[in-house]
Amino acid sequence: TQETLYCIGCGAAIQTTDPAAAGYTPASALRKALANDTQDLYCQRCFRLRHYNEIVPVALSDDDFRHLLATIREANALVVYVVDIFDLNGSIIPGLQRFVGDNPVLLVGNKEDVLPRQLRRTKLREWMNQQVRAQGIKPVGVALTSAKRGHAIDELLALIEKYRRGRDVYVVGVTNVGKSTLINRIIANNTGLQDLITTSRFPGTTLDKIEIPLDDGHKMVDTPGIIHPEQMAHVLSGDDLKLVSPQKEIRPKGYQLRNGQTLFLGGVARLDIVDTIKPAGTVYVDNNLPLHRTRTENADNFYEKHVGELITPPTGDAVKDFPPLVRHEFKTTGVTDVVFEGLGWVTVPGDTRVAGWAPRGVDVVTRPAMI
Ligand code: GDP
Repeated sequence: TQETLYCIGCGAAIQTTDPAAAGYTPASALRKALANDTQDLYCQRCFRLRHYNEIVPVALSDDDFRHLLATIREANALVVYVVDIFDLNGSIIPGLQRFVGDNPVLLVGNKEDVLPRQLRRTKLREWMNQQVRAQGIKPVGVALTSAKRGHAIDELLALIEKYRRGRDVYVVGVTNVGKSTLINRIIANNTGLQDLITTSRFPGTTLDKIEIPLDDGHKMVDTPGIIHPEQMAHVLSGDDLKLVSPQKEIRPKGYQLRNGQTLFLGGVARLDIVDTIKPAGTVYVDNNLPLHRTRTENADNFYEKHVGELITPPTGDAVKDFPPLVRHEFKTTGVTDVVFEGLGWVTVPGDTRVAGWAPRGVDVVTRPAMI
């Protein structure tokens, strides 16, 4: 048996099993610390924060989530809502409009670098605005950033200054939208502040928050990443997830997709054309994801035979544990995106019957074509 150890930085119980949860410490680091009989044990997150001024993402349980929401609702603050523009649906925070209360929301579309350049940015901002309005949120402004490339970080900071009007700032987002990368950029752009970053606890939770002091005595609070349950990130593991996450600007690929044809998007999704009068589709996924067209009547066999080999990911050991693909049928009216959460989308013509298949637990949704 082992007594519970606590991080002296944030107070979270030390654990070695879930890297995304609070208190995570690699088993090797823990062994080393115990062997040295050290008194100052830090979780990985606090360790990195102390030594490298680097924020490591941490995810949230339902209980902690409710406490976090209450904290934000009671605060008088600007809420900075970070979404992944490539996976807007997977970025939705359930119930956000309720816990934001009367606080203004600044919407940040991150991973701007992966969207095709032909897509006009003003149009993209409008589109994002509409999408979150459908969730009941009326953003005071919309920013587009690439945290990874360091694009538009200064513009974002200027917008934050403009809208916070002497208040605190809470940065919220589901896991994987790039919130940590963004916060790290913000810290790097404020080099004078680096030594002043502090951690403290959200009342009633096991979670630490990162507080970045602002010039006027107020603070920017980085909240833990909220888990959106229907992301591709939950069925694919590290390396396989990287294979489906676009790292560069997406090159759209046109396909002739006739009735009775199926297009496999790696081994993680497929699109069946059930009935169309216009055999055209445009695929927006990572440039290196293998795409294979086959006849729908052979598609199940094809999948069984080739998943993990011709069509990947999943790869290696992940193949046998991979959830089965589940079919979702749609009838389009206008030009429509069939969106596979976290993977991308296929634009299909109007008046078409299609079936989108995704691993059990991952959503397939449609929306009016984005591009
Ligand atoms: P968090 O869970 O929201 O804190 O997300 P992370 O900051 O850990 O980022 C999740 C993944 O998205 C990582 O693989 C990042 O490299 C990637 N990422 C973050 N920001 C960007 C971006 O602006 N563009 C692209 N292409 N990838 C990004």
